[in-house]
Amino acid sequence: MDNCIFCKIVRGEIPSRKVYEDDLVYAFHDINPVAPVHFMLIPKEHVDSMAQLGQEHEAVMGHIMVLAHQLADSLGSTEGFRTIVNTGRIGRQDVMHLHVHVIGGPAVLPPMLVRV
Ligand code: AMP
Ligand code: ZN
Repeated sequence: MDNCIFCKIVRGEIPSRKVYEDDLVYAFHDINPVAPVHFMLIPKEHVDSMAQLGQEHEAVMGHIMVLAHQLADSLGSTEGFRTIVNTGRIGRQDVMHLHVHVIGGPAVLPPMLVRV
């Protein structure tokens, strides 16, 4: 996608602090971290959000799930972490290229959500 900022990051047109890369996925530190460990895993191939996933995405999404704990561990989040995938308007997704946030560090995180 020409105008997608995360596609531009994958192509190297916008700088990022890379955590990991392979043929299917790219991982990079969030520019506005909410915890000592906060990076995102994205499929290299553009997909807007979880709401657009189909069977053809099963391999890359499974790959992202396996990589999440390996990369979290390698960055020092050794006792757990939180994964968040904001989706669409209700989920308050800001960047419309599917991304899995991985958030952690040495301290216990705050509660997940306030009650709506
Ligand atoms: P979301 O609200 O789930 O769509 O999250 C988008 C995330 O992307 C936010 O946490 C932003 O801080 C992060 N972000 C936006 N632009 C960049 C960028 N150029 N490099 C790294 N992270 C970014
Ligand atoms: Zn994109």
